[in-house]
Amino acid sequence: MSDEAKPTVAKARLELEEARERAKFEKYRPRTLEQKLGYLIEECGEVLAAVGKSLRWGLGGFNPELPYGQRELNGDWIQRELADLERALSLVKDALNVQGYPARKAKP
Ligand SMILES: [Mg+2]
Repeated sequence: MSDEAKPTVAKARLELEEARERAKFEKYRPRTLEQKLGYLIEECGEVLAAVGKSLRWGLGGFNPELPYGQRELNGDWIQRELADLERALSLVKDALNVQGYPARKAKP
């Protein structure tokens, strides 16, 4: 077995963390169009919060109210919320497509 193919503790931890993240998202995954639109609104708000705090306190700032293990830099927070927003956008676009939107316009 090559060194690259050998499992490492760090790799195993990363895979476990990714599996936990997928399981968490699956548990709360929006299923209906209404739920998906709600998720989109929620993520838009979270992006606004992260950008607003970053403008006030800087990209390198962080929320001092969070415990040490949960702190993240505001710039990282924006990146995380943008990834969430992209996922929400994708879900809503797909759901709208399934429902026939954008609707075909009748030709004059
Ligand atoms: Mg979010």
